[in-house]
Amino acid sequence: MDLYRTLIGYVFSTAEKDESTSGTSNKTETTTPHKTDLYGEIPSNKWPIIYASDYNIGFLGLEKLHPFDAGKWGRVHTFLKEAGMVKDDTTVKPREASEKDLMVVHSKEYISSLKWSVNVASITEVPPVALLPNFIVQRKVLRPFRYQTGGTIMAGKLAMERGWSLNIGGGFHHCCSEKGGGFCAYADITLAIKFLFERVQGVSKAMIIDLDAHQGNGHERDFIDDDRVYILDVYNRGIYPHDGYAKRKYIYSYRYLQNIRGIYPHDGYAKRAIKKKVELRHFTEDDEYLELVSRNIDSALGEFEPDIVIYNAGTDILQGDPLGNLSITEKGIIERDKIVFEKVRSRNIPILMVTSGGYQRSTARIIADSVLNLRKLKLIGCDEAELANTQSKGWLGYFLG
Ligand SMILES: [Zn+2]
Repeated sequence: MDLYRTLIGYVFSTAEKDESTSGTSNKTETTTPHKTDLYGEIPSNKWPIIYASDYNIGFLGLEKLHPFDAGKWGRVHTFLKEAGMVKDDTTVKPREASEKDLMVVHSKEYISSLKWSVNVASITEVPPVALLPNFIVQRKVLRPFRYQTGGTIMAGKLAMERGWSLNIGGGFHHCCSEKGGGFCAYADITLAIKFLFERVQGVSKAMIIDLDAHQGNGHERDFIDDDRVYILDVYNRGIYPHDGYAKRKYIYSYRYLQNIRGIYPHDGYAKRAIKKKVELRHFTEDDEYLELVSRNIDSALGEFEPDIVIYNAGTDILQGDPLGNLSITEKGIIERDKIVFEKVRSRNIPILMVTSGGYQRSTARIIADSVLNLRKLKLIGCDEAELANTQSKGWLGYFLG
């Protein structure tokens, strides 16, 4: 039956993708891409910044059981609005990624597995989620993730059109096509890249610059033998997934117990996909970190010329982060983002930034300050949206005298 459907689909060149296809490795590049809502036209008077309140997770206080600040995306947007940079109507509203969108990367089996609340509880690391009816879990937990995933996919096309884009969410770098984990239910980075490869002419090579404190084992598994994708990953080697860490300490850790339960695979395997690997020690500080980031981006861009860079800008490198275990200051994070944008944009390579991990209340302010800094330095901009700001200020000025 599946073969029959595939043949029929091929003969009549329908706009639908064969639903029976499972996993990324089985995809046939010759099929016509399915119809999607995620690649529509975006008016040029909007910033290439994507956000909607649908991103935020919050119900019954359960989100407080996870150290993740589940409202940080909304606060980043509020700070950008308060600074007079964006407004609701100059921000791009994301669409929710549909099942067909997700199946560009995910298998039907994986998507079906999320219909069991116990599996979502494992992925989000919030055990009580297992006790909730799945329709609530879908609406309150997975739907926000699907909006953020739709946002990252949309940001891929926007980056190609505008030279840069920012999704104030996404960056689920622990999820691969077949498995979620570490608060990541959908592989948004892999999806954004596969959408671009399938749908945007001139995009055949991508670079992922993953500067979250953790190793990006999700996208790494997805692109393990794919020469079209170059991965630079700078991460703390002493935290998940623990390769190179003193074994005895690890054996008694909570993460090790999770590995035994199969929630967190011990993921040395994924490292094979990293073309440039920079492993940090606990409590690495600004000077050493920024020098390593700067030097390795130069070196990566010397080895590989991508058509787009996906920048996973996790802020869990911040000092005091209980999971990241690094000692980077707020100034260091702002400087890091500046270095990445300078190096990529000076080479005329489009860049898409996602916000990824960052587990302290202070991180929303830092992300917003960093975006405002990029704008001040003219590393990002949107003339038409700025014009709309000036005009509305002029109007207000008229009334205020
Ligand atoms: Zn992280």
